[in-house]
Amino acid sequence: MGKYTVAIVRYERPLESVRRAVDLCKGLAHLPHKAKVFIKPNIVFWTRTTPFPKWGVVTTSRVVEDMVILLKEREVEEITIAEGITTFDPQDRETPAHAFESLGYPILRERYGIKTLNVFERPFKKVELGAGVVLNFNPDILESDFVVNLPVLKTHAQTIVSLGIKNLKGLIDVASRKKCHSPDTVKDLNYMVARLANKLPPSFTLLDGIYTTERGPFFEGRLRRSNLLIASSDIFSADKVGAKVLGYEPSQVPYLVHAAQDFKRPLDLSDVDVIGEEIESVASFHEYAFPYTEDGMLPRPLEKLGIKGLSYPQYDSTICTYCSGFTTVMLMAIANAWKGKPWDEVEILTGKRMKPTPGKKKTILLGKCMVQANKNSKDIQEAIEVKGCPPSLQDALNALKQAGIDANPAFFEKMDMAAGSFMKRFEGKPEFEESFYKVV
Ligand code: SF4
Repeated sequence: MGKYTVAIVRYERPLESVRRAVDLCKGLAHLPHKAKVFIKPNIVFWTRTTPFPKWGVVTTSRVVEDMVILLKEREVEEITIAEGITTFDPQDRETPAHAFESLGYPILRERYGIKTLNVFERPFKKVELGAGVVLNFNPDILESDFVVNLPVLKTHAQTIVSLGIKNLKGLIDVASRKKCHSPDTVKDLNYMVARLANKLPPSFTLLDGIYTTERGPFFEGRLRRSNLLIASSDIFSADKVGAKVLGYEPSQVPYLVHAAQDFKRPLDLSDVDVIGEEIESVASFHEYAFPYTEDGMLPRPLEKLGIKGLSYPQYDSTICTYCSGFTTVMLMAIANAWKGKPWDEVEILTGKRMKPTPGKKKTILLGKCMVQANKNSKDIQEAIEVKGCPPSLQDALNALKQAGIDANPAFFEKMDMAAGSFMKRFEGKPEFEESFYKVV
């Protein structure tokens, strides 16, 4: 059997670089005549409140428009750009609309006649993905003739890398997203993610690495101008090469290990031809894990402040995006509240699997899952329950106060502002261009 082709191209100029990546791997060679095409960018986060770092977080509008142009050159008439942005309130229709507007998608609508779609405004369809995984998927992608998948080349705190297959998680409903972060130690997040592409129509994946990210855009995160495009008609091959470029062997990435077993494919690159740039010439190691103390009980940024009397154990794969959205704000609020006097043996537990550490005096159970998992624990002296799924910001603030951590309410009232505060890092760095996220 022939090998799968993956093209690695250095991004140099609008349209021509994407064209080269597509041509080298013959990415649109199997585009059916009069195809209904579904484009999936990656808009993992958005806020209307403040500008925030999008580099290496959101697919560049430059790459999206270039792909639309290449499809139009092939006389594709029906093109839909769709995303299911995670918002704190799943009923929020304004934030996704603001994202599409800010990214210039209305101009693409006018210029090329494409459609845009917030998948939360559509019904979802129950889909069996094999191996016992059943998730509610957006039906538009499943009913399209061809998918153009446009993830960002980045690492991820829970899945090590977030590439083509993981990008499809943006097309399942809220219940399915929560389900993916299962407490089951075998059928866990990686097991679920590995199946996301199992019912995918014919597709082309282009990993947008104009900007890449390690450890996300906040705190210890680092965004880089990497100027890379990785393209393939085979999503699994694109992800294997993407992982190598970010410095990880596919065998180190659990969802790729599951996918290889599922697809009955080798985990190494023995079934892949890499053309264009060599992996070795473009690879650079990107950290993925948020740094914690050696015992995993406190984030390093809090340790550096000298914080005592607090345990905030390292997140695991069971905390879903809705609860983990709290983490940035909680950490900022806690850091700000530290005045040098040790807190009274407080522990904050998250996700679905954590157990209390015996001897702690106050245990904050963040979210419905933690409350249910530990409500009868004998190792808790004083439980401070933050119910709700996801919990409310006010309840989280009250819980900190009850535990003796006098957090400033402003962090919770203006939660989105936290994302904006990280923009300062990019002042005076011309390589971080906002224009990549505009259509002109
Ligand atoms: S409580 Fe949090 S971790 Fe549990 S399902 Fe809800 S959002 Fe996810």
